[in-house]
Amino acid sequence: MTTFFIQNFGCRATQADADAIRHSLHAQGSIAAESDTSADLVVLNTCTVTAAADAEARESIRRIHRQNPAARIIATGCYAQRAPEELAALPGVSWVVGNSHQHAIASLANNHANFVPLSAVSANTPAPSPILREEMSALVPPIASPHHLDDSPDDLHDDLLVASRTRPTLKVQDGCNHRCAYCVIPLVRGRSRSMQPATVIGEIHRLVAAGAQEIVLSGIDLGNYGRDLTPRVSLHALVRRIIDETNLMSLRLSSIEPIDITQDFISLVARELRIAPHFHLPLQSGSDRILRAMHRWYRAAHYARRVELIRETVPHAAIGADVIVGFPGETAEDHAATTNFIAGLPLSYLHVFSFSPRPGIEAANLPGQVPRHVIHERARELRTLAQQKSQQFHISQQGRKTRVLTLDRRGADWTGAISGNYLNMRVAGSWPRNRWLEVVIPANETSVASVTG
Ligand code: SF4
Repeated sequence: MTTFFIQNFGCRATQADADAIRHSLHAQGSIAAESDTSADLVVLNTCTVTAAADAEARESIRRIHRQNPAARIIATGCYAQRAPEELAALPGVSWVVGNSHQHAIASLANNHANFVPLSAVSANTPAPSPILREEMSALVPPIASPHHLDDSPDDLHDDLLVASRTRPTLKVQDGCNHRCAYCVIPLVRGRSRSMQPATVIGEIHRLVAAGAQEIVLSGIDLGNYGRDLTPRVSLHALVRRIIDETNLMSLRLSSIEPIDITQDFISLVARELRIAPHFHLPLQSGSDRILRAMHRWYRAAHYARRVELIRETVPHAAIGADVIVGFPGETAEDHAATTNFIAGLPLSYLHVFSFSPRPGIEAANLPGQVPRHVIHERARELRTLAQQKSQQFHISQQGRKTRVLTLDRRGADWTGAISGNYLNMRVAGSWPRNRWLEVVIPANETSVASVTG
């Protein structure tokens, strides 16, 4: 029996991909190993958003091969799609599989003639055969012909998945039709495509039947959901159907472009208690000049109006943003504009990313590349601001009663939990995960909340 371990890098969408790989390996009779050092097969689901993400994947492969030389390593995900030969050249990598062929991983693992389970390997077993070039090109085809999301197996989600994660992610959209100048994603995930609404509803029924209390709906460009389907469907209509046709207790939405968050959608979240009051809107810069250079299609004032509308309509909502520092041509004035803009917005958290000139992206070749030490300093300033924003939001919520879902994290006398508005907290006592509790929100993440029901 083959044992496997999956190491996942990157965003929520890759988490959903890793769940699907895990499921298909289980379905073919493979067993999850405790760690990558004890597995016959290690699948690395890579990310390539920054140079650091690439380096992390390469370092993991080298470490796994050092500690577990008999393991067959499969590299997949966005880095594998972007630069398959780079990964294929690393010691221990048996196969490189593109994003469109992840469904083939289980049969590779179980049927491939070259594959020898760890239990059958002796000290004298020869190293895995090198990857055949024609084999690799079959597994990493150009992303121009991506798989359709409905091609996933019927029983994609099951109790194993729920058992492995308290809040499973359901990826209902993949790919992106935009061409932001800093982003490598369209090159490795192809054009936007959506899962049929009936498939989404079926998946949610299965996850709920397996015990899921909260599901995170995710996509690369989630706001674009359904525009490729015939007939066209909107994200709003999909969310309405999920609420009306399933018994799901809590639906959370991952990142949505600000322009796709409509007044109607905000009102739906305000009315419907089963939708987590949580909005994540990528900002990227507070300088219009930089937004234009990035090919972002809104300006700072539009973004601010959207955030203010959310805050007025759903006063306790979590509102999060992403920001990129050091885009080519970003001056000290642009950076100050971003900092002041964010300081004035009622955001509850902020993710700060440093610009990374990925091969193939437009911004890699733009003049005015910002020196690394300047990027580092600007990122540090914004992270300090991010911390202040999170603290202010937490304090503004202190003393409110709210419902939380328990998580896996625990200490001697507390259990980790998360609220609808994305506050992580500790609740008093030892509780099983996936349990709803009523609590009074404490002053910060590390204070212990009392349970009221
Ligand atoms: S919207 Fe822009 S940043 Fe987001 S995935 Fe598409 S190209 Fe990348």
